[in-house]
Amino acid sequence: MLLAHRIRLAPTPAQRDYFVRAAGTARRVWNWALAEWNRQVAAGMKPNAMALKRQFNSIKYSDPDWQDADGQPWLRTIHCDAHAQPFANLAKAWTHYFKQRRAGQHAHRPRFKKKGRCRDAFYLANDKFRLEGMVAVLSKVGRVLLCEHLRWPGKIIGASVGRCADHWYLSVQVDVPDHVAHLRRMADGVAGVDLGVSAAATLSNGEKITAPRPLAAALRRLRIRSRRLSRKLETAKANAGIKGQIPKGTRLPVSKNQTCGTRALARLHARIARVRADFMHKLTARLCRENQAVVIEDLNVRGMLANARLARAISDIGFYEFRRQLQYKAVRYGTQLVLADRWYPSSKLCSACGAKYSALGLGERVWACATCDAHHDRDVNAAINLQRLATGVLAAQSALPVASSAVAPGTAAGNGPAGGGKVTPARHEHGQQDGSGQEENGVHLCPPS
Ligand SMILES: [Zn+2]
Repeated sequence: MLLAHRIRLAPTPAQRDYFVRAAGTARRVWNWALAEWNRQVAAGMKPNAMALKRQFNSIKYSDPDWQDADGQPWLRTIHCDAHAQPFANLAKAWTHYFKQRRAGQHAHRPRFKKKGRCRDAFYLANDKFRLEGMVAVLSKVGRVLLCEHLRWPGKIIGASVGRCADHWYLSVQVDVPDHVAHLRRMADGVAGVDLGVSAAATLSNGEKITAPRPLAAALRRLRIRSRRLSRKLETAKANAGIKGQIPKGTRLPVSKNQTCGTRALARLHARIARVRADFMHKLTARLCRENQAVVIEDLNVRGMLANARLARAISDIGFYEFRRQLQYKAVRYGTQLVLADRWYPSSKLCSACGAKYSALGLGERVWACATCDAHHDRDVNAAINLQRLATGVLAAQSALPVASSAVAPGTAAGNGPAGGGKVTPARHEHGQQDGSGQEENGVHLCPPS
């Protein structure tokens, strides 16, 4: 199983400087390749990444664009993966774009990368570096200290060095043997998980888990730092005599103060992302560790983000990331992940008698069933209904999976239409859906107070 371990680096100032130059090289080569690709397409040719790379290799030491002020080709100081990999990445990006477009999904063409606006990173093939305990030995750089050991044994496939705010990270991709990648499960529960905004996750045993929502907490500080940075930009504009929008292609001088401001803002954003990721990893790991089956809704996250009032709160929890992590962790723990059908009315069914309460409003946190008079907490009721899906599915299988080695094929594969995890259940018992069903799962998100 392929797993990646992202390890923070502790580079010296000279090594940091090299990383910046190598990432800049990767970015510039990408832009060159993309421009050339577009030019060839416009000229009616059929570009291809390998041919582009050969074309680039023939000019990279001679073209004045790729030489220093003293006439030396600066690519000689950067190791070759940093300027070879962008061609492969570009080919992958185009393939991905055409695949998405064929599938009728939302897609955009590969874009040019802008300094300060894109991710700074470059690639290392596995023959260009090695790990010695807490040290990574990189070509052209030498020994760089790591902040922790590589977590897994196995064959190293490759790595990339990337920056997040002020820190550099080495992300190592390892082909981990299955007996190491598979983890032992601690319990054999079956959990239905209802995602929401007031409580990030409600489990079918009634437990409500609140997310830290770091963005909401940092919003004030974020505004202050953004404003400070914006003032510096305005000053730079005023000094250059520009009013209103900056014309395309203009490069304003960047002051030391402005660099500091940018960094402070980036650090805060990185912290927000870290707090969110920490919570999410702990929650998804716990769900997979303690349950033989986890049921979640197949939420239309993109559709929900279109709701301007909820978008910030939803992104602050990270619904899509929740599902992505469950999908790969379920495989590691041998947990079955069940995706409830998008139109399954989990909130509106009474978990005691199965009657459907269609008139359930957006803000109704508690309701009473008209048929059996049971009182329900909205989220807990939904979670129980979700859990019921899995118990039905598991009972239908010949044997309940009890050991963590039992991985049902296709359960974590995601959107596959016929995977073992896809359930199209109970709704037929309660009459056909009205077709407008999207709100079925959208409704139980109550607006943030
Ligand atoms: Zn009822």
